[in-house]
Amino acid sequence: MKENRYLLLTPGPLTTTAGVKEAMLRDWCTWDRDYNDVVEELRRGLVEMALRDRAECANYTSVLMQGSGTFAVESVIGSVIPRGGKLAVLSNGAYGRRIAEIAGILKIPAVELRFDECERPDAAMLAEMLADDPAVTHVAVVHCETTTGILNDIESVGRVAKSCGKKFIVDAMSSFGGISLYMDDLDIDFLISSANKCIEGVPGFAFVIAKRVELAECGGRARSLSLDLYSQWKTMEEHRGKWRFTSPTHVVVAFAEAMRELKEEGGVVARNMRYTANRDMLIRGMEELGFRALLPDELRSPVITSFLYPEGVGFDFTDFYESLKRDGYVIYPGKLSERDTFRIGNIGDIREEQITGLLAAVERYVKRLENEAPSLCA
Ligand SMILES: *Cc1c(COP(=O)(O)O)cnc(C)c1O
Repeated sequence: MKENRYLLLTPGPLTTTAGVKEAMLRDWCTWDRDYNDVVEELRRGLVEMALRDRAECANYTSVLMQGSGTFAVESVIGSVIPRGGKLAVLSNGAYGRRIAEIAGILKIPAVELRFDECERPDAAMLAEMLADDPAVTHVAVVHCETTTGILNDIESVGRVAKSCGKKFIVDAMSSFGGISLYMDDLDIDFLISSANKCIEGVPGFAFVIAKRVELAECGGRARSLSLDLYSQWKTMEEHRGKWRFTSPTHVVVAFAEAMRELKEEGGVVARNMRYTANRDMLIRGMEELGFRALLPDELRSPVITSFLYPEGVGFDFTDFYESLKRDGYVIYPGKLSERDTFRIGNIGDIREEQITGLLAAVERYVKRLENEAPSLCA
Protein backbone atom coordinates (compact mmCIF):
# COMPACT_ATOMS: atom_id res chain seq x y z
CA MET A 1 0.00 0.00 0.00
CA LYS A 2 1.11 3.56 -0.70
CA GLU A 3 2.68 5.38 2.23
CA ASN A 4 0.66 8.16 3.81
CA ARG A 5 2.03 11.59 2.96
CA TYR A 6 1.04 12.89 6.37
CA LEU A 7 -0.75 11.91 9.54
CA LEU A 8 -4.08 13.57 10.17
CA LEU A 9 -4.17 15.16 13.60
CA THR A 10 -7.60 16.46 12.78
CA PRO A 11 -10.80 15.21 14.35
CA GLY A 12 -12.34 13.70 11.25
CA PRO A 13 -11.39 12.70 8.71
CA LEU A 14 -8.63 11.22 10.77
CA THR A 15 -5.75 8.79 10.51
CA THR A 16 -7.19 5.32 9.91
CA THR A 17 -5.52 1.94 10.36
CA ALA A 18 -4.20 -0.15 7.48
CA GLY A 19 -7.00 -2.63 8.22
CA VAL A 20 -9.68 0.01 7.70
CA LYS A 21 -8.09 1.16 4.45
CA GLU A 22 -7.67 -2.41 3.20
CA ALA A 23 -11.34 -3.17 3.81
CA MET A 24 -12.11 -0.79 0.94
CA LEU A 25 -10.22 -2.81 -1.67
CA ARG A 26 -13.25 -4.88 -2.60
CA ASP A 27 -16.45 -3.91 -4.39
CA TRP A 28 -19.86 -4.74 -2.95
CA CYS A 29 -23.32 -4.87 -4.42
CA THR A 30 -25.54 -2.37 -2.65
CA TRP A 31 -28.66 -4.60 -2.47
CA ASP A 32 -27.00 -7.99 -2.12
CA ARG A 33 -27.85 -10.00 1.02
CA ASP A 34 -24.20 -10.28 2.17
CA TYR A 35 -23.77 -6.54 2.06
CA ASN A 36 -27.12 -5.83 3.69
CA ASP A 37 -26.17 -8.24 6.47
CA VAL A 38 -23.08 -6.13 7.14
CA VAL A 39 -25.37 -3.10 7.44
CA GLU A 40 -27.70 -4.92 9.83
CA GLU A 41 -24.85 -6.00 12.04
CA LEU A 42 -23.58 -2.42 12.17
CA ARG A 43 -27.01 -1.14 13.10
CA ARG A 44 -27.22 -3.63 15.96
CA GLY A 45 -23.67 -2.91 17.06
CA LEU A 46 -24.32 0.83 17.24
CA VAL A 47 -27.43 0.34 19.37
CA GLU A 48 -25.52 -1.97 21.74
CA MET A 49 -22.72 0.57 22.08
CA ALA A 50 -25.19 3.34 22.93
CA LEU A 51 -26.85 1.52 25.84
CA ARG A 52 -25.69 0.51 29.28
CA ASP A 53 -28.51 -1.98 29.75
CA ARG A 54 -28.54 -4.66 27.05
CA ALA A 55 -32.18 -5.40 27.88
CA GLU A 56 -32.99 -1.95 26.48
CA CYS A 57 -31.76 -2.80 22.97
CA ALA A 58 -35.21 -3.74 21.71
CA ASN A 59 -36.43 -0.22 22.49
CA TYR A 60 -33.81 1.52 20.37
CA THR A 61 -32.91 1.43 16.72
CA SER A 62 -30.39 3.00 14.37
CA VAL A 63 -30.37 4.47 10.88
CA LEU A 64 -27.37 5.09 8.64
CA MET A 65 -27.49 8.18 6.43
CA GLN A 66 -25.34 9.06 3.42
CA GLY A 67 -23.20 12.18 3.68
CA SER A 68 -21.09 13.83 6.36
CA GLY A 69 -22.22 14.38 9.93
CA THR A 70 -24.13 17.56 9.12
CA PHE A 71 -26.38 15.61 6.73
CA ALA A 72 -27.48 13.40 9.62
CA VAL A 73 -28.01 16.40 11.91
CA GLU A 74 -30.13 17.98 9.21
CA SER A 75 -32.06 14.75 8.71
CA VAL A 76 -32.90 14.62 12.42
CA ILE A 77 -33.89 18.27 12.77
CA GLY A 78 -35.89 18.13 9.53
CA SER A 79 -37.59 14.79 10.22
CA VAL A 80 -38.44 14.63 13.92
CA ILE A 81 -39.87 18.04 14.79
CA PRO A 82 -43.55 18.07 13.82
CA ARG A 83 -45.41 21.02 12.30
CA GLY A 84 -46.33 23.09 15.30
CA GLY A 85 -43.24 21.94 17.19
CA LYS A 86 -40.36 24.15 18.30
CA LEU A 87 -36.68 23.51 18.89
CA ALA A 88 -34.46 24.93 21.63
CA VAL A 89 -30.73 24.73 20.90
CA LEU A 90 -28.02 25.32 23.48
CA SER A 91 -24.89 26.46 21.69
CA ASN A 92 -21.31 27.22 22.70
CA GLY A 93 -19.60 26.80 19.36
CA ALA A 94 -19.96 26.41 15.62
CA TYR A 95 -21.71 23.04 15.71
CA GLY A 96 -24.41 24.15 18.13
CA ARG A 97 -24.96 27.27 16.03
CA ARG A 98 -25.19 25.07 12.94
CA ILE A 99 -28.15 23.17 14.44
CA ALA A 100 -30.00 26.47 14.89
CA GLU A 101 -29.04 27.48 11.36
CA ILE A 102 -30.48 24.23 9.97
CA ALA A 103 -33.76 24.90 11.79
CA GLY A 104 -33.81 28.42 10.31
CA ILE A 105 -33.32 27.20 6.75
CA LEU A 106 -36.01 24.54 7.19
CA LYS A 107 -38.32 27.21 8.67
CA ILE A 108 -38.68 25.26 11.90
CA PRO A 109 -39.41 27.58 14.83
CA ALA A 110 -36.32 27.59 17.02
CA VAL A 111 -34.74 29.46 19.86
CA GLU A 112 -30.99 29.45 20.41
CA LEU A 113 -29.50 29.86 23.87
CA ARG A 114 -25.97 31.04 23.17
CA PHE A 115 -23.10 30.64 25.58
CA ASP A 116 -19.49 31.71 25.44
CA GLU A 117 -17.27 29.28 23.53
CA CYS A 118 -15.21 28.64 26.65
CA GLU A 119 -18.21 27.95 28.89
CA ARG A 120 -20.55 25.03 29.21
CA PRO A 121 -24.23 25.56 28.40
CA ASP A 122 -26.06 26.21 31.64
CA ALA A 123 -29.01 23.91 32.31
CA ALA A 124 -30.53 26.41 34.76
CA MET A 125 -30.91 28.89 31.91
CA LEU A 126 -32.60 26.23 29.84
CA ALA A 127 -35.04 25.63 32.71
CA GLU A 128 -35.88 29.35 32.80
CA MET A 129 -36.30 29.47 29.06
CA LEU A 130 -38.57 26.43 28.98
CA ALA A 131 -40.73 27.92 31.73
CA ASP A 132 -41.15 31.09 29.64
CA ASP A 133 -41.72 29.32 26.35
CA PRO A 134 -43.98 26.26 26.64
CA ALA A 135 -44.15 25.98 22.82
CA VAL A 136 -40.72 24.27 22.80
CA THR A 137 -41.06 20.56 22.09
CA HIS A 138 -37.44 19.51 21.44
CA VAL A 139 -34.09 20.38 23.02
CA ALA A 140 -30.77 19.90 21.18
CA VAL A 141 -27.21 20.15 22.46
CA VAL A 142 -23.71 19.17 21.32
CA HIS A 143 -21.78 16.75 23.54
CA CYS A 144 -18.17 17.54 22.62
CA GLU A 145 -18.09 20.98 20.92
CA THR A 146 -15.31 20.37 18.44
CA THR A 147 -14.94 24.12 17.91
CA THR A 148 -12.88 24.31 21.09
CA GLY A 149 -12.82 20.72 22.32
CA ILE A 150 -15.00 21.56 25.32
CA LEU A 151 -16.93 18.66 26.82
CA ASN A 152 -20.47 19.81 27.59
CA ASP A 153 -22.49 18.63 30.55
CA ILE A 154 -25.31 17.01 28.61
CA GLU A 155 -26.51 15.19 31.70
CA SER A 156 -27.76 18.34 33.42
CA VAL A 157 -29.24 19.65 30.16
CA GLY A 158 -31.03 16.36 29.58
CA ARG A 159 -32.39 16.29 33.11
CA VAL A 160 -34.01 19.70 32.63
CA ALA A 161 -35.32 18.86 29.15
CA LYS A 162 -36.84 15.62 30.39
CA SER A 163 -38.35 17.05 33.57
CA CYS A 164 -40.17 19.51 31.29
CA GLY A 165 -41.38 16.70 29.00
CA LYS A 166 -39.24 17.64 25.96
CA LYS A 167 -37.62 15.35 23.40
CA PHE A 168 -33.84 15.33 23.76
CA ILE A 169 -31.48 15.42 20.76
CA VAL A 170 -27.70 15.08 21.21
CA ASP A 171 -25.03 15.79 18.60
CA ALA A 172 -22.44 13.28 19.80
CA MET A 173 -20.56 13.48 16.53
CA SER A 174 -17.08 13.84 17.93
CA SER A 175 -17.59 11.87 21.15
CA PHE A 176 -19.52 8.67 20.39
CA GLY A 177 -17.11 5.74 20.47
CA GLY A 178 -14.43 7.74 22.30
CA ILE A 179 -16.25 8.93 25.40
CA SER A 180 -18.64 6.71 27.35
CA LEU A 181 -22.16 7.87 26.82
CA TYR A 182 -25.34 5.88 27.38
CA MET A 183 -28.65 6.90 25.88
CA ASP A 184 -30.63 4.95 28.48
CA ASP A 185 -28.82 6.70 31.36
CA LEU A 186 -29.51 10.14 29.92
CA ASP A 187 -32.90 9.38 28.38
CA ILE A 188 -31.74 10.65 24.97
CA ASP A 189 -34.31 10.31 22.20
CA PHE A 190 -32.03 10.92 19.19
CA LEU A 191 -28.24 10.69 19.14
CA ILE A 192 -26.20 11.61 16.07
CA SER A 193 -22.65 10.63 15.14
CA SER A 194 -20.59 9.84 12.07
CA ALA A 195 -18.33 7.21 10.55
CA ASN A 196 -15.15 9.24 10.54
CA LYS A 197 -14.77 10.37 14.13
CA CYS A 198 -14.09 8.30 17.25
CA ILE A 199 -15.07 4.99 15.65
CA GLU A 200 -12.25 5.77 13.22
CA GLY A 201 -13.83 4.90 9.90
CA VAL A 202 -13.55 6.92 6.70
CA PRO A 203 -15.97 9.73 5.76
CA GLY A 204 -19.12 9.01 3.73
CA PHE A 205 -22.02 8.37 6.06
CA ALA A 206 -23.33 9.27 9.48
CA PHE A 207 -25.83 7.58 11.76
CA VAL A 208 -28.65 8.23 14.16
CA ILE A 209 -29.54 6.08 17.16
CA ALA A 210 -33.08 6.63 18.35
CA LYS A 211 -35.81 5.44 20.63
CA ARG A 212 -37.95 3.22 18.48
CA VAL A 213 -41.26 4.71 19.62
CA GLU A 214 -40.05 8.25 18.92
CA LEU A 215 -38.76 7.52 15.43
CA ALA A 216 -41.92 5.56 14.62
CA GLU A 217 -43.91 8.78 15.07
CA CYS A 218 -41.92 10.73 12.49
CA GLY A 219 -43.59 9.54 9.30
CA GLY A 220 -44.54 12.42 6.99
CA ARG A 221 -42.63 15.06 8.96
CA ALA A 222 -39.55 15.36 6.73
CA ARG A 223 -38.80 18.63 4.94
CA SER A 224 -36.51 16.83 2.48
CA LEU A 225 -36.78 13.73 0.33
CA SER A 226 -33.23 12.41 0.56
CA LEU A 227 -32.76 13.40 4.22
CA ASP A 228 -36.01 11.80 5.38
CA LEU A 229 -34.82 9.91 8.44
CA TYR A 230 -38.09 8.03 8.90
CA SER A 231 -38.23 6.72 5.32
CA GLN A 232 -34.56 5.75 5.46
CA TRP A 233 -35.27 3.83 8.65
CA LYS A 234 -38.41 2.15 7.27
CA THR A 235 -36.48 0.91 4.24
CA MET A 236 -33.62 -0.40 6.39
CA GLU A 237 -36.04 -2.09 8.78
CA GLU A 238 -38.37 -3.63 6.23
CA HIS A 239 -35.69 -4.67 3.76
CA ARG A 240 -33.16 -5.66 6.44
CA GLY A 241 -30.21 -3.41 5.75
CA LYS A 242 -31.17 -1.93 2.40
CA TRP A 243 -30.52 1.77 1.80
CA ARG A 244 -33.05 3.87 -0.11
CA PHE A 245 -30.46 5.29 -2.50
CA THR A 246 -26.94 4.27 -3.54
CA SER A 247 -25.07 3.48 -0.38
CA PRO A 248 -21.39 4.25 0.25
CA THR A 249 -20.47 0.55 0.13
CA HIS A 250 -16.71 0.90 0.59
CA VAL A 251 -17.19 3.28 3.48
CA VAL A 252 -19.64 0.89 5.14
CA VAL A 253 -17.32 -2.13 5.01
CA ALA A 254 -14.45 0.05 6.24
CA PHE A 255 -16.68 1.10 9.14
CA ALA A 256 -17.47 -2.54 9.91
CA GLU A 257 -13.73 -3.16 10.19
CA ALA A 258 -13.36 -0.02 12.36
CA MET A 259 -16.07 -1.33 14.70
CA ARG A 260 -14.28 -4.68 14.91
CA GLU A 261 -11.00 -2.94 15.74
CA LEU A 262 -12.70 -0.79 18.38
CA LYS A 263 -13.95 -3.95 20.09
CA GLU A 264 -10.49 -5.51 19.78
CA GLU A 265 -8.90 -2.46 21.40
CA GLY A 266 -11.15 -2.97 24.42
CA GLY A 267 -14.16 -0.87 23.51
CA VAL A 268 -14.96 2.73 24.31
CA VAL A 269 -13.27 2.68 27.73
CA ALA A 270 -9.91 1.57 26.31
CA ARG A 271 -10.16 4.00 23.43
CA ASN A 272 -10.97 6.83 25.79
CA MET A 273 -7.84 6.01 27.80
CA ARG A 274 -5.69 6.12 24.67
CA TYR A 275 -7.15 9.45 23.57
CA THR A 276 -6.73 10.87 27.06
CA ALA A 277 -3.09 9.73 27.16
CA ASN A 278 -2.52 11.34 23.73
CA ARG A 279 -4.05 14.59 24.90
CA ASP A 280 -2.17 14.75 28.19
CA MET A 281 1.11 14.04 26.48
CA LEU A 282 0.37 16.60 23.78
CA ILE A 283 -0.55 19.36 26.24
CA ARG A 284 2.47 18.67 28.45
CA GLY A 285 4.80 18.76 25.45
CA MET A 286 3.24 21.87 23.94
CA GLU A 287 3.43 23.70 27.28
CA GLU A 288 7.12 22.88 27.50
CA LEU A 289 7.51 24.50 24.09
CA GLY A 290 5.75 27.67 25.25
CA PHE A 291 2.18 27.05 24.07
CA ARG A 292 -0.91 27.28 26.23
CA ALA A 293 -4.15 25.29 25.93
CA LEU A 294 -7.26 27.44 25.55
CA LEU A 295 -9.43 25.60 28.06
CA PRO A 296 -8.80 24.80 31.71
CA ASP A 297 -8.26 21.16 32.53
CA GLU A 298 -11.79 20.50 33.83
CA LEU A 299 -13.48 21.56 30.56
CA ARG A 300 -11.26 19.63 28.16
CA SER A 301 -12.40 16.63 26.17
CA PRO A 302 -9.87 14.00 25.11
CA VAL A 303 -10.87 14.48 21.45
CA ILE A 304 -9.30 17.72 20.29
CA THR A 305 -7.26 20.43 21.97
CA SER A 306 -7.28 24.14 21.15
CA PHE A 307 -4.07 26.09 21.70
CA LEU A 308 -3.70 29.87 21.83
CA TYR A 309 -1.30 31.49 19.42
CA PRO A 310 1.87 32.19 21.41
CA GLU A 311 2.42 35.82 22.38
CA GLY A 312 4.74 37.86 20.19
CA VAL A 313 4.95 38.70 16.52
CA GLY A 314 6.91 35.67 15.38
CA PHE A 315 4.05 33.18 15.16
CA ASP A 316 2.23 32.78 11.90
CA PHE A 317 -0.31 29.96 11.62
CA THR A 318 0.10 29.34 7.89
CA ASP A 319 3.84 29.14 8.31
CA PHE A 320 3.46 26.82 11.32
CA TYR A 321 0.95 24.64 9.45
CA GLU A 322 3.18 24.31 6.37
CA SER A 323 6.18 23.53 8.49
CA LEU A 324 4.35 20.70 10.31
CA LYS A 325 2.90 19.42 7.06
CA ARG A 326 6.36 19.16 5.52
CA ASP A 327 7.32 17.06 8.53
CA GLY A 328 4.29 14.81 8.01
CA TYR A 329 1.64 16.20 10.38
CA VAL A 330 -1.56 18.00 9.47
CA ILE A 331 -3.39 20.02 12.13
CA TYR A 332 -6.50 22.23 12.16
CA PRO A 333 -6.88 25.99 12.20
CA GLY A 334 -8.99 27.44 15.01
CA LYS A 335 -12.66 28.17 14.64
CA LEU A 336 -13.24 30.71 17.37
CA SER A 337 -14.88 34.03 16.79
CA GLU A 338 -12.84 35.99 19.32
CA ARG A 339 -9.55 34.28 20.09
CA ASP A 340 -6.68 33.22 17.85
CA THR A 341 -6.28 29.49 18.21
CA PHE A 342 -5.28 26.37 16.37
CA ARG A 343 -6.43 22.83 17.10
CA ILE A 344 -4.78 19.46 17.30
CA GLY A 345 -6.83 16.28 17.22
CA ASN A 346 -6.00 13.43 19.58
CA ILE A 347 -8.19 10.85 17.86
CA GLY A 348 -7.59 8.38 15.04
CA ASP A 349 -4.90 5.73 14.82
CA ILE A 350 -2.56 7.87 16.92
CA ARG A 351 -0.39 6.78 19.81
CA GLU A 352 2.47 8.00 21.95
CA GLU A 353 4.96 7.52 19.11
CA GLN A 354 3.03 9.85 16.79
CA ILE A 355 2.59 12.49 19.49
CA THR A 356 6.35 12.35 20.15
CA GLY A 357 6.97 12.87 16.45
CA LEU A 358 4.57 15.79 16.28
CA LEU A 359 6.14 17.47 19.33
CA ALA A 360 9.58 17.14 17.72
CA ALA A 361 8.22 18.83 14.59
CA VAL A 362 6.70 21.63 16.68
CA GLU A 363 10.03 22.03 18.47
CA ARG A 364 11.85 22.39 15.13
CA TYR A 365 9.45 25.16 14.18
CA VAL A 366 9.87 26.91 17.53
CA LYS A 367 13.69 26.68 17.25
CA ARG A 368 13.53 28.23 13.82
CA LEU A 369 11.37 31.08 15.16
CA GLU A 370 13.85 31.63 17.97
CA ASN A 371 16.70 31.85 15.52
CA GLU A 372 14.83 34.39 13.49
CA ALA A 373 13.74 36.48 16.48
CA PRO A 374 15.75 35.37 19.51
CA SER A 375 13.79 37.25 22.18
CA LEU A 376 10.28 36.14 21.29
CA CYS A 377 10.01 32.62 22.58
CA ALA A 378 12.05 33.00 25.73
C1 LIG B 1 -17.69 16.86 12.83
C2 LIG B 1 -18.87 17.41 13.56
C3 LIG B 1 -20.11 17.59 12.91
C4 LIG B 1 -20.35 17.29 11.47
O1 LIG B 1 -19.46 17.86 10.62
P1 LIG B 1 -19.32 17.32 9.13
O2 LIG B 1 -18.22 18.17 8.60
O3 LIG B 1 -20.60 17.53 8.46
O4 LIG B 1 -18.98 15.88 9.23
C5 LIG B 1 -21.18 18.02 13.68
N1 LIG B 1 -21.06 18.26 14.99
C6 LIG B 1 -19.88 18.10 15.64
C7 LIG B 1 -19.82 18.36 17.10
C8 LIG B 1 -18.75 17.66 14.93
O5 LIG B 1 -17.59 17.49 15.57
